[in-house]
This record gives sequence, structure tokens and C-alpha cells, in this order.
Amino acid sequence: MGGHDDGTVSPRTWLYAALVGFVLLWILGPDVLREAIPIWLPFLVALGLELAFLAGALRGPPTRHPNRLPQEIDRERWGYPVDRPSSAESDEGLEPTRERAEPPRRLGGALVGLVVIAALAGLVWATQSRTGWSSLSREARAAAEERLSREASLVAGKPVTIRCDEERAHVGVVQGAEGVARVGGTLAYLTPERCYDLYRLAFRGDIRSSRTALAIAVLAHEAWHLRGVRDEGVTECYALQSGVELGERLGLSEETARQLMRQQLTENALRGLVSAEYRVPPDCRDGGRLDLDPDSARFP
Ligand SMILES: [Zn+2]
Repeated sequence: MGGHDDGTVSPRTWLYAALVGFVLLWILGPDVLREAIPIWLPFLVALGLELAFLAGALRGPPTRHPNRLPQEIDRERWGYPVDRPSSAESDEGLEPTRERAEPPRRLGGALVGLVVIAALAGLVWATQSRTGWSSLSREARAAAEERLSREASLVAGKPVTIRCDEERAHVGVVQGAEGVARVGGTLAYLTPERCYDLYRLAFRGDIRSSRTALAIAVLAHEAWHLRGVRDEGVTECYALQSGVELGERLGLSEETARQLMRQQLTENALRGLVSAEYRVPPDCRDGGRLDLDPDSARFP
């Protein structure tokens, strides 16, 4: 750790600077980062590199080295300073003594590194256990899943089950989906983030504008797939209409629920520029073929 007397910064210092920076970004940054990269991954990389440093240190000084000084290549690999022979040492022939003194110093660096890794892991654990879906008790999560299943069943027109995919085995950034359901099936998965947004709305009355809107739309969307609708654009059109009543049942006023679903419809048009598959069809409008309530003049 730390800079060296000769002004170079060791690879190990860069490693920990990068790790600290990444962990802070992961904790404080956008959801998309937490959803995309499991936090154990950078720790695994850091531990691997630390072990490599440690192995290099334990191997000790090279045995058959024509020149006793560490070579430039060693410095590049391990970041240890090139010891410059002081005139006093050279005169008194103390080089072997200095070689023996090196390993403890290198081991000390490894120890500091492991402490840094452990401290960062503790920080991640402390922040994550206080926020998000995983901070909820087992009972609260079960109650939320039961509530969401009940709401989805009303939309699907049959008993269905909603699971929050804590393991990210089915949904997430990797899978490119906030939720997933088999068309006509009875089980759908949502990401923990959307589950948490819905939990906050239903159990705490917390409304977080577009996040809440998205979570309602995703739940309704998967419910319509379970009901048997396959086409993504049609499914989304129905979902944003059902989302008004769904939002009301979860605690929104009718006005807010409509506003949030209209906002989702506007965002859908913008998203549709990127992925046409999810764009609602042109007849997703008041009085159009996909209007679930043609008698009403409001849409959604
Ligand atoms: Zn879909």
C-alpha cells in the first residue's frame, strides 16, 4: 500500500483505490449497477490479486540472480521499489541482510490489503442489510408476495403466484427483464427492486413517482401474460389500463394512478424508439380496438 520513496505507485495501491471506488459507486450509484453486477465479483477479483501479491512475496528473493537488485520487470509486476544501493551498504556489503528483511514488509502489505477488503465487505453488508428488498424480514417479504399474487390474480382472472426473484435466476439486467411470466401460466417473477417499490407503496404508502409507476406496470404486464396475452405491445397496452385500478388498490388516489400510467404510456412511446417489440400498437388509445373500457372517455 502507499506510494514509494521513488515516487511510483504500486499496483496494489491502484487495486485498492479501484476497489474502494467501485464499492462506493456500487453503494451510492444507480440501481442499474447493483442489478447488473453482483457485489461479490469485485471482491473475488481483489482477493485473487491479493493472493497473487502474497504468493510473490512468499516466494522471496530470486535464488539465481546475477544482479541482486530487483529488476525492472519485478517492479512492474509487484510494485516493489527498486532498491538503490546506498554507498554505505555497498561499502559494508550488507546486501544479504537487506534481502532477508524484505519478506516481512511484503507480508505486512498483504495484511493491510486483507484488512481493507474485510472493511469494505463489512460496509457493503451494513448498507445492504438496511436498504431494499433484502432488508425486509422474511415475514414482510412473504406478506408482500402474497399481496402481489392476490393483485395479479385479479388482473389475470385466475389464481396466480408472484415471486420476487432474490437470486436473480429469472429476471434482472442480465436477462433484460423486470419481470417474466409464461403466457397462460400461473407463476411470474419480478426483480427485487420492483417488488420493493410495490411493497413500499402497498405497506407504507410510499410513492416514488416513475419508480412506482414502473413497478405497477411491470406487475400488471406479467399478470396479462399469465392471463394468456402473448404480444408484448398488446400486453403493455392492457397493463397500463389495468394499472390504474391496480394502483388504486395498492393505495394510490385515482388521479395519481391515472397520471402514473399515462406517464408510463408516454415513456413507452420513447422506449419504443429503441425496442419496437414493446411499443404499444397504434390502436392502444381511447376508443381504439385495445381500449378495455370503450365507454369511458379516459385513457388509460
Ligand atoms: Zn412481456
